[in-house]
Parts: sequence; C-alpha cells; structure tokens
Amino acid sequence: MADKWGLCKSCQWWQIEPTAKIEDATMGLCIDENLQPYRLLVSGNSGCNRFIKGTPAKAEGSSSQPPTAEPTR
Ligand code: SF4
Repeated sequence: MADKWGLCKSCQWWQIEPTAKIEDATMGLCIDENLQPYRLLVSGNSGCNRFIKGTPAKAEGSSSQPPTAEPTR
C-alpha cells in the first residue's frame, strides 16, 4: 500500500484553479471518486495512498473554502 503513496502536486486527482501554479502551497480539491463526498481541500505538498501519477485538473472554485468546483474527471 505504501508504495502507492504520493503527493497531490503529482496526482491526477488534484484539481486546482485555472491560473494556479503547481506548487507545495497551492490549494486544490481532491477529485478521487472515493474522496469526492468529503470536498477535501489539499495542498500540493499533501498526499495519500489513493495517488495516481498525472497532471492536475483545473476548474474555477477548486480552492474555495469549501471548494465550489465540480470534479472535472
Ligand atoms: S489527496 Fe490523494 S488522491 Fe487526492 S489529490 Fe492528493 S494524493 Fe491524489
């Protein structure tokens, strides 16, 4: 399980604002299907073992508190 652990900034389930840069302190919505009900706001430097390597999705409202963007994947 631990070998699948990775950082949000390199995960395909991270969704950030359209103009946001991929950085440790950037905040975004986790759109992993199992985590979507929690509207989880995570930083680029956060991580978990649902990680799948990829590039983040982008949508307006992904960093609001709470996030207002719909998952785009
Ligand atoms: S919380 Fe986990 S699944 Fe969600 S974006 Fe971060 S690493 Fe990916």
